[in-house]
Amino acid sequence: MKKNIYIIGSGFSALSASCYLAKQGYNVTVLEKNDTLGGRARQYKKDGFTFDIGPSWYWMPDVFERFFADFGKKPSDYYTLDKLNPGYEVYFGKKSSLKVSENLEDIYRMFEEEEKGSAKHLKTFIDSAKSNYDTAIKDLVYKPGVSPLELINTSTIARVSQFFSTIRKQVRKNIKNPKLIKILEFPVLFLGAKPTNTPAFYNFMNYADFGLGTWHPRGGMYAVIEGMVSLATSLGVHFKTNSNVQKIITDTSKNVVGLLVNGEEIKTSLVLSGADYHHTETLLDKDVRQYSENYWDKKIFAPSSLLFYVGFDKKIENVSHHTLFFDTDFDAHAREIYDNPKWPTDPLFYANFTSLTDETSAPEGKEAGFFLIPLAPGIKDTLELREEYFDKIMDRFEKLTNQKVKEHVLFKKSFCVNDFKEEYNSYKGNAYGMANTLFQTAFLRPKIKSGKVKNLYFTGQLTVPGPGVPPALISGKIASELIIKNQY
Ligand SMILES: Cc1cc2nc3c(=O)[nH]c(=O)nc-3n(C[C@H](O)[C@H](O)[C@H](O)COP(=O)(O)OP(=O)(O)OC[C@H]3O[C@@H](n4cnc5c(N)ncnc54)[C@H](O)[C@@H]3O)c2cc1C
Repeated sequence: MKKNIYIIGSGFSALSASCYLAKQGYNVTVLEKNDTLGGRARQYKKDGFTFDIGPSWYWMPDVFERFFADFGKKPSDYYTLDKLNPGYEVYFGKKSSLKVSENLEDIYRMFEEEEKGSAKHLKTFIDSAKSNYDTAIKDLVYKPGVSPLELINTSTIARVSQFFSTIRKQVRKNIKNPKLIKILEFPVLFLGAKPTNTPAFYNFMNYADFGLGTWHPRGGMYAVIEGMVSLATSLGVHFKTNSNVQKIITDTSKNVVGLLVNGEEIKTSLVLSGADYHHTETLLDKDVRQYSENYWDKKIFAPSSLLFYVGFDKKIENVSHHTLFFDTDFDAHAREIYDNPKWPTDPLFYANFTSLTDETSAPEGKEAGFFLIPLAPGIKDTLELREEYFDKIMDRFEKLTNQKVKEHVLFKKSFCVNDFKEEYNSYKGNAYGMANTLFQTAFLRPKIKSGKVKNLYFTGQLTVPGPGVPPALISGKIASELIIKNQY
């Protein structure tokens, strides 16, 4: 008889795990508290506009290919990918921006134009980033984080010093132009920590950026969720939305024996949670939780965010599909996220206009705009503050890109700390999990297998390998492999 397994949540990690477990012959049921699937990657539609609620950068296409290949499929069986050119644009001041090409040779040329001699340094840097990327994919990120020994081999030993230096030091050693520094320090923001706190080894994100490029699934990131749901369904996975897991029930021998879902008890002897790790532990009785509130409080979390989904009644000019506004002091904003949490005095922000390259996301002649301001997790969130910051970034946006947009807003919807907590049970309203710092990497992250409850497992951005969509796909694979290895 097929063994039952219940998965809590339907984010990328849970969907990934559901496919691997169903393929192995488990009878898999996914329980999602919200009314649609996809977790942080759900979709918002209004008046002919379509927005990805969360992720929008499709990086590391090889990880998606590898996922689908495990099932004899390709991404193109489910969605169409376009390589964006430029990959993105960065604003440094009024009418001052750089476009990062999809082509590495163009990027070398751009560096050389901005700073004489920098192309040579960039080449060396990207060679090291590529080599680290290959090591990360081959030797590190697909490991379960059970023991430090799994990370030790000749390739990783040769790179040990890079774990004790930082991205900031590495980037600034040879590159001096402030614009180029900002571009090179940007990719590690996906890992959730400051460049001063991120090991130099993580420069592999720069290879992901310049070497592998920025892609866009037509229809948005949600097209990937739809593809994975379609694959999972074909493998026999059952999906139950509006299913809020309220308790993980254990017996006196510390085995899971059931779940309380919407007030009703379901019997099960195997549970994998793709919900935020901290939240999942609060579903357990205190004596079988592994980590204290103090433990979580001391961890460095990725930022929360203030997000706006905006429908404009006209096409927006002087921007690219992905546009970063780095015209203010990055370090000052970072201090207000990590060191002295408060609403940022002069925030950096990010905007995307998917309708510039994907006509499915807005009606003709109109533009779908997504705006994101990184914020300290746990910060006070009120409607007044959201409005104040919308005005702030709109004014900046108008000046920097030299156009009127505020009077062209048809509608806007915001999403912030309180929504992250309410909609995803997110710890302190974090947007994308626990940061990848030196002491929060690999076996130092919260464990995939509970150390206290025998048949309880975890997946997602708070465990290995870390934040982001590609890591979530990998996390689902690692967690299911561990379950299969333990032969339940
Ligand atoms: C605004 C934003 C922008 C981002 N941008 C990018 C990007 O551009 N590129 C990128 O690669 N990554 C990006 N990320 C990160 C990426 O989206 C996440 O790392 C990834 O989607 C997390 O997937 P997950 O499976 O770990 O968790 P989630 O997607 O959070 O899934 C957890 C699920 O569990 C459900 N759940 C919680 N509690 C319960 C319960 N008690 N019962 C039932 N269900 C429950 C939640 O509703 C949710 O559906 C971004 C994230 C955000 C928020």
